[in-house]
Amino acid sequence: MTTSICRRSSSDLVTSCTGLATSRGPCPFTGREGGVSAGEHAGLNLAQHVGDDERAVVRNRELLDAELGVPVVFVDQTHSTDVHVLPAAGPAPVVSADALVTDRGDVALAIMVADCLPVLLSDPVSGTIAAAHAGRAGLLAGVLERTIEAMTQLGARPADLTASIGPSICGACYEVPEPMRAEAAQQLPTTWAETSWGTPALDLRAGAIEILGAAGIPRSALETDHPCTLEDERFYSYRRQARTGRFAGVLRRA
Ligand SMILES: [Zn+2]
Repeated sequence: MTTSICRRSSSDLVTSCTGLATSRGPCPFTGREGGVSAGEHAGLNLAQHVGDDERAVVRNRELLDAELGVPVVFVDQTHSTDVHVLPAAGPAPVVSADALVTDRGDVALAIMVADCLPVLLSDPVSGTIAAAHAGRAGLLAGVLERTIEAMTQLGARPADLTASIGPSICGACYEVPEPMRAEAAQQLPTTWAETSWGTPALDLRAGAIEILGAAGIPRSALETDHPCTLEDERFYSYRRQARTGRFAGVLRRA
């Protein structure tokens, strides 16, 4: 049984940062490129409820379904630590959660972001996959630990997992108030950071790497080489523009 986080693709939708991909191949993150949304949401905005034309979002999601070859499952994300394990078969209803887990091969999983971390996990041995939304709140509250726990209940072992932390705001850009930095660093020391202009910041990617490592995923199985969303306009960034779209980390079993 095999799974793959990074898959070859014939279109531009899930390979829009291919040029920056690693030895694992094209990366499974969408960008702005390829969609029908206009104006502030221009491009492949996948989120409803961010002020975009709903018909455009439906069309963008259809494009993604066609690209993946299976229905793409989304969740209503709320910065929680709720993990949704898909039913073993049949339709996957949209629920409120911030992580999705399955061992099914007939659907793909999507997590939407615009600066937060899209974290994709795959266990090639058990065939279990997961997608998690890890912003500051979710990361500190344990969304990644809970996601891995749900995967193990489907037979995955942390030592077998590979993980990809996608395009997200970097530690040199994610400015926060000093008390917020102190509180985060007390729990996750690696999140302590400074902006490139010398003010308090958080490095959420470093925090995620710390958590995934502590959970037992080998460092060599972590793929983190992706652009900063605030600095790279191929991605939506909430910090750059409060009214904007969402791109996604998307994966399916190979
Ligand atoms: Zn940055």
